[in-house]
Amino acid sequence: MDSTDRPEIEIRGLHKAFGDNQVLRGIDLDIARGEVVCVIGPSGSGKSTLLRCVNLLEEPTAGQVFVGGTEVTDLDVDIDAVRRRIGMVFQQFNLFPHVSVTENLTLPQRRVLGRGKEQAAEVARRNLERVGLSDKAGAYPSQLSGGQQQRVAIARALSMGPEVMLFDEPTSALDPELVGDVLSVMRQLAAEGMTMMVVTHEMSFAREVADRVVFMDGGVIVEEGPAEQVVGDPQQPRTRDFLMRIL
Ligand code: ADP
Ligand code: MG
Repeated sequence: MDSTDRPEIEIRGLHKAFGDNQVLRGIDLDIARGEVVCVIGPSGSGKSTLLRCVNLLEEPTAGQVFVGGTEVTDLDVDIDAVRRRIGMVFQQFNLFPHVSVTENLTLPQRRVLGRGKEQAAEVARRNLERVGLSDKAGAYPSQLSGGQQQRVAIARALSMGPEVMLFDEPTSALDPELVGDVLSVMRQLAAEGMTMMVVTHEMSFAREVADRVVFMDGGVIVEEGPAEQVVGDPQQPRTRDFLMRIL
């Protein structure tokens, strides 16, 4: 099979244990290029661990993960090269507090990708524009709202030119009135064809943007399908219980 025919992300028989705690118990999931998959499920069900196994922030106990046809779980793989292809955005924005917004975007490009000053600045400028924050280029993170900081974190990830973006509850730490701006940046990314895996409790975002919703509980995928099916007409009792509690 040609690598262009393969799913962008392939997860095969993925298991992850922390000591005796079996957190992922056999996850199989394919995500096509340009597809947006929302992962939902109760706290502790393994959603973050799943994302972290995709970019090797956690080492799986068993199973395989392929990104763009490359097995990232291969022990000989260049972890840094893998991570460059995968952007990640966390609930906590993790910006560098002591440098400007622009430097938050240029420093990783220079250090990790070896880009020159001019090129890194140009990429930063373009990505700040993309998230609607051109006017904050010279600001420090502490001068920004949570929503603006999260948009900077997205722009920083995009500046590395990833093939895939992983979002772990990107709006969960935000005041409600700041959630919308972050979601609209993500909506726009999805429309541009980015492959995205999004852990979120924002069901309206999932219904509107996700091509597919995956419901996890107890380290397994309990139910998956189009959002209108999984969120609108769940078949499994555990999915129904969960949705009833959060909606
Ligand atoms: P979710 O994101 O769905 O809330 P997580 O993937 O964060 O779930 O956590 C699932 C389980 O894995 C929890 O029981 C948590 O305590 C455990 N866990 C996650 N990360 C670690 C870690 N680094 N060390 C030990 N246990 C962990
Ligand atoms: Mg989590």
